[in-house]
Amino acid sequence: MIERVKAWVNDQLAFGEFSSREQVLRRSVVMALRIAALAYSINVAAHLVLYAVGLLPYDLAQALVIATVLTPLVSLPVALAAYYVVGHAVYELALSRAEFERLSRTDSLSGLLNRRAFLEAIETAVSPAALAIFDVDRFKSINDTLGHVAGDEVIVSVADRLASLACGRHIVSRIGGEEFAVLVCGLSPEETLGLVEDARSLIEVRPIACGAGAIPVTVSAGVADYVPGRDFDDLFSHADRALYLAKVSGRNRVVHEREVGGVAPPSRYEAPFDGMIRDRVGMAS
Ligand code: GH3
Ligand code: MG
Ligand code: MG
Repeated sequence: MIERVKAWVNDQLAFGEFSSREQVLRRSVVMALRIAALAYSINVAAHLVLYAVGLLPYDLAQALVIATVLTPLVSLPVALAAYYVVGHAVYELALSRAEFERLSRTDSLSGLLNRRAFLEAIETAVSPAALAIFDVDRFKSINDTLGHVAGDEVIVSVADRLASLACGRHIVSRIGGEEFAVLVCGLSPEETLGLVEDARSLIEVRPIACGAGAIPVTVSAGVADYVPGRDFDDLFSHADRALYLAKVSGRNRVVHEREVGGVAPPSRYEAPFDGMIRDRVGMAS
């Protein structure tokens, strides 16, 4: 019994019976009517049994009239109120649980999926699919020169541009500071590279306007193909190696894993500070 109640509560927390306030009211009315009908039947049955065994201390007809008038009058509003209050509380709980679940899967700065949610999402990947890891070039110099707030604005803007290109079809996430992972779904390898190249160019083509001025930003990307059965660690590590190659060969480019060849695996690439970002920003220093 306790297990059944637990299962029922869990179902309701996933918006089972109570998917909206109207639904709570509708369910409460239906349940109150059922409860009132049940209470009335029990009341009448009890009177009939008492009458049959000669224990009814008053007239049966009067007893049935009183039961018919009183039982629904008392049980209906009580059951309605009780079910509505409980249903409403469960609905509110389900709402906050859903919101908590959404927040735990969302990167608060960019609004994209976070790393955890992305890892969950790619487990549902079906071929053809590919993983692209984007990393903002020389991001540290933006932070160092223009401040963290400008850095944050760049992250948000890059996220928006990636999401705009994904059109809801591909899964975009922020997996680290200025790193984004995109699961490209349903495209051929050539189309995938085309899309990733479009994303790179979309970020390069228009400087990012923020409080500190218009900041020219570029990204590098590494791409690895998902094939059924391929281990996700392997997919990530190959996309990361491709990204490493994109970095060491000049940045602002897209590299596919097949181009990596004998390049040494990254211990995480160096990020040399090569000049003031302010020079690139084109603003008065
Ligand atoms: P590279 O071209 O090699 O990628 O160079 P980089 O400067 O982008 O690389 P690096 O990894 O050294 O710099 C990343 C910086 O991002 C370091 C860290 O302080 C900063 N960072 C991490 N998370 C955030 C964030 O949420 N906001 C801001 N503004 N900066 C962040
Ligand atoms: Mg990085
Ligand atoms: Mg970077």
